[in-house]
Amino acid sequence: MTNNNLTQRDRASVWHPYSSTINAPDVFPVESASGVYLKLSDGSQIIDGMASWWCAIHGYNHPLLNAAIESQLTDMAHVMFGGLTHAPAIDLAEKLVEITPASLQKVFFSDSGSVAVEVALKMAIQYWAAKGQPGKQKMLSLRQAYHGDTLGAMAVCDPVTGMHTLFNQVLSSNYFADAPGTRFAGEWREQDISSLQLLLEQHHTEIAALILEPVVQGAGGMWFYSAEYLRRARTLCDEYDVLLIADEIATGFGRSGKLFACEYADISPDIMCVGKALTGGYMTLAATLATNDVSETISDEGEGVFMHGPTFMANPLACSVALASINLLLAYDWKKKVTLIEAELENGLAKCRELSNVVDVRVLGAIGVVELDTPVDMYTIPAEFVKRGVWVRPFGKLVYVMPPYIIEAAELNTLCDAMYTVVKGLT
Ligand SMILES: *Cc1c(COP(=O)(O)O)cnc(C)c1O
Repeated sequence: MTNNNLTQRDRASVWHPYSSTINAPDVFPVESASGVYLKLSDGSQIIDGMASWWCAIHGYNHPLLNAAIESQLTDMAHVMFGGLTHAPAIDLAEKLVEITPASLQKVFFSDSGSVAVEVALKMAIQYWAAKGQPGKQKMLSLRQAYHGDTLGAMAVCDPVTGMHTLFNQVLSSNYFADAPGTRFAGEWREQDISSLQLLLEQHHTEIAALILEPVVQGAGGMWFYSAEYLRRARTLCDEYDVLLIADEIATGFGRSGKLFACEYADISPDIMCVGKALTGGYMTLAATLATNDVSETISDEGEGVFMHGPTFMANPLACSVALASINLLLAYDWKKKVTLIEAELENGLAKCRELSNVVDVRVLGAIGVVELDTPVDMYTIPAEFVKRGVWVRPFGKLVYVMPPYIIEAAELNTLCDAMYTVVKGLT
């Protein structure tokens, strides 16, 4: 099958994420992937700077992860989770409870990050209903937030980039505080918390939960903010009887430099969502973790049951590979490696600061961001990166990377040089 042929067939029948079926640039067929490399069908090998949207932290085709799936496959690929259980789900749940902030004790599995967020929002609403406060159904979110693409999740995404106007008849209306202004490790400015504080003061009787991405706002702006904001948010939630939902779907499993970004503020949320890197990029799986207070309150009163149950809940193949991925992560000094990547990204991207079209360069953990003054042209830019041997997929004004943790210094250099050259070519 030639490259050309696949591209044409793809165009005829496949609809890609966030894309037009009429007016779209060619997509690149991938034949296989190994380590940090994607092998395209024209034979070229390119370094994956995106870890397939935060997921492939150990790189591709890892022997231990392959083995976990193969071994589970001979036992069972799937069984329903209503009324049945299995060791892979129990082992994974125990591991997640062990490594996440202390107060999180119960694990609800689902298929994708967006669904894990839907589950979290429903838990918060059922919690207050069980406590005799059914009027607390609104959510408080932050501007520049991204929490997924299903309708409930969209309703807590940034109202502008989340296209709330287009869907205004179906999206629930929620409250949005200003995005945190103080940079990560920047000097804390008291006014940063005032918008959140004011909304809580005025509307806490209607608000079930504050949902936020701890420290790293991902797809809504790739912004790293002060851990002090997170500490203050936790305190305010307690003060105003509002649950705190931490969306660690992008940040979880070491990406920010901590195993979970909540650790930067030393806080424990009431509900936490994980996904993306949970399976090391092998299978689609997500989880919503809750405190015993949340689970017991919902279970004790009102309906007495939590009203959600995905068909593929706790899929054994996905649970097995997730456990293998977490064990693999914990078995080596991942923190040292992520810190090394952070230093190398900082070094490699520093020269971008001199370019006239670059507004900001920021790095945290294994995430590097170059913010431009104008949005890039998605027709031409991905191909420019591929030509230079790397896979980088910008959105809007943001050219960013979050490579697999196994990436070597020389490969990171190639990645950073390509970012510099392509961005420079836009001046
Ligand atoms: C990707 C992402 C989601 C949605 O996850 P999907 O698996 O794409 O549904 C939610 N929240 C955050 C912070 C994410 O990065």
